[in-house]
Amino acid sequence: MDLSTPIKFVKGVGPRRAADLEGRGLTTAADLLTYAPFRYEDRSNIKPLGQLAPGEMATVLAEVHSLHAPQFHRRDLGMIEVIFQDSSSQRLTGKWFHAQYLKNVFLPGIRVSLFGKVEFDGYKGELTMLHPDYEILRDDDEEDEAGLHTGRIVPVYEAAGKTSTRVLRGVVKRIIDNLPEMPDALPEFIRRRLALPDLTTALKGLHFPSVDTDLRLLNNFRSPAQIRMIFEEFFWLETGISLKRRQARTEPGIRFELNERVREQIKKILPFKPTGAQKRVLGEIARDMSTETPMSRLLQGDVGSGKTIVAAQAAVIAVENGYQAALLAPTEILAAQHQVNLERVLAPLGYRIAPLMGSMTKKEKAVAKRALATGFAQIAIGTHALLEEDVEFDKLGLAIIDEQHRFGVMQRKSLQQKGVYPDVLVMTATPIPRTLALTIYGDLDVSIIDELPPGRQPIKTFHKTKLELEQVYSFILRQVQAGRQAYIVYAAIEESETQAVKAAQAAYQELSTVVFPQLKVGLLHGKLPSAEKDAVMDGFKRGEVQVLVSTTVIEVGVDVPNATVMVVENAERFGLAQIHQLRGRVGRGADQSYCVLVTDKLSDTGRERIRTLVESTDGFHIAEMDLRLRGPGEFLGTKQSGLPVFRIGNLLRDQEILELAREEARTFVEQPPSEELLEAALRFVREHWQRRYGLALIG
Ligand code: ADP
Ligand code: MG
Repeated sequence: MDLSTPIKFVKGVGPRRAADLEGRGLTTAADLLTYAPFRYEDRSNIKPLGQLAPGEMATVLAEVHSLHAPQFHRRDLGMIEVIFQDSSSQRLTGKWFHAQYLKNVFLPGIRVSLFGKVEFDGYKGELTMLHPDYEILRDDDEEDEAGLHTGRIVPVYEAAGKTSTRVLRGVVKRIIDNLPEMPDALPEFIRRRLALPDLTTALKGLHFPSVDTDLRLLNNFRSPAQIRMIFEEFFWLETGISLKRRQARTEPGIRFELNERVREQIKKILPFKPTGAQKRVLGEIARDMSTETPMSRLLQGDVGSGKTIVAAQAAVIAVENGYQAALLAPTEILAAQHQVNLERVLAPLGYRIAPLMGSMTKKEKAVAKRALATGFAQIAIGTHALLEEDVEFDKLGLAIIDEQHRFGVMQRKSLQQKGVYPDVLVMTATPIPRTLALTIYGDLDVSIIDELPPGRQPIKTFHKTKLELEQVYSFILRQVQAGRQAYIVYAAIEESETQAVKAAQAAYQELSTVVFPQLKVGLLHGKLPSAEKDAVMDGFKRGEVQVLVSTTVIEVGVDVPNATVMVVENAERFGLAQIHQLRGRVGRGADQSYCVLVTDKLSDTGRERIRTLVESTDGFHIAEMDLRLRGPGEFLGTKQSGLPVFRIGNLLRDQEILELAREEARTFVEQPPSEELLEAALRFVREHWQRRYGLALIG
């Protein structure tokens, strides 16, 4: 047997169990070794029957005295009672329900080991254990599993289909006992310096910790063996990321010049005085652009912090150097808005802008494509349509991706590939908690706008139940009568836009005719023809539409400073980061703005989530809470988000090990002790990256 042995060939597995295990992504012996127990039980407390105390968990070694199958008159519970004895005079009754098969197991005279909770049946005056874990003790049998399930610290695995923790324990034990000496891929100098056990020791300690291992450490995943396995998993991921970074650094990028003339042009487009943070961030971007290495930069800034103008400035640098810039946005509404804004700010420079959206006619698209391919247009703004194969650029020098979290890694890559090593700027308003930033965006440099433009008042957030809707509506009415505007957003269950559209349509009917007959109510959702969308959005921008009923299509980017009320219906169905984004649609002007979260009955976590939003307007804090309450997969939302799949490591629990692994991996890649070691690492990552983390090594 070796690590690559298919699981179905491991003794005791067979086709049915193999299918169960494959369902969990476990196909080889190696996979099973990294299937870490999620909990450990100390069953090493071995006691003679005479010393058992009711209430304690204990392991006993005893002999079957007799077996009974008591009959209950109403229904047959299949109850089995087995009386055990040892050399003390005390006896113990083990009870199992629905366990007729045990009649053939507990034959009188057989020696067993039992683990369970000791109880005292005062009525019968006997000690009992209900459904104790058991094993049959045999001295001669080769397949003896004695001392595996009892009498030690026992690993508890999550069952895979019908394959129980008990079966898994046996299978893992067999694999560990039969493995030849394994080569340890983790570089020895790192292992020694961090005092981590070698691979074989670590695997044994992970699955079958010795009796003297501290149970609290084990159950907190901090025994030396567990730390080593977690560290290793993170280490190879971070090594891969560092190698990617190093590779990217050697690519011949564009050296944009940043002379007086370019600086003048940048100043010309500024409609306002930039904040300190905007200036600093532009400085970081300009520095990247003026070096030969292609820029890979993530620009993070809370909603409304003013990322768009910074992106426009970067585009000016590219265009003034004779290159084109492309801006990719996740929705048509946002792309259209970017188009209007950029046309306005870039007007003094006379750039030609080509929009490219899915809803354009073939002819319109053809015109835009030609403009980009010939270099007639210097700026492209678009949605996914921009990524289509036949979209070509004359000289793409800067790719900007707005609301990056809505796109996958491959999409970023496909825009990038429309140029020759162009600079890449990705932007997001969903603050990415550090653990995730280190893993998914690990190959990007990060700039943060941590300051809002002056004069913004913090948004006031309230929680209301469905029963209080009347109040909410009269509040909207008062705001509108004071000249403001409002959004009312409807949620979908599980990403189904269709459902949300239905909810919004129904609400629109009622709101426009019954609730606010005197107001101009507009309806906006993703399924509207785009001319209609534009008309509604324009109406709202001009203030003609006073209340905008919508789905989350307005989630990102939309900028109407006169809107001061954001009502989110069924707020419990949204992610926190998403509501924070929605809330960012108001509070963009000088007036006090409000966000009202309307919910049904809430669960405990639900209440905690809403409270987080009511109490905080700090995007980073909210993102951390969201991550903690929902977990990384849900937090990122999309399958193609590029989040690696960890077997042992857990981003929420193991942040400090991740940080350590990253430090070590970076130093290792940048200053390897020898070229051979680095080569070996490169080979290891190439071979294991995809399988271990579900990631493609791109680029
Ligand atoms: P986001 O970072 O969410 O994309 P935007 O770029 O849309 O934010 O900017 C939000 C609003 O703030 C816009 O109306 C923009 O014109 C305005 N804005 C941005 N920077 C400044 C600034 N330095 N001073 C005044 N207003 C600004
Ligand atoms: Mg934006």
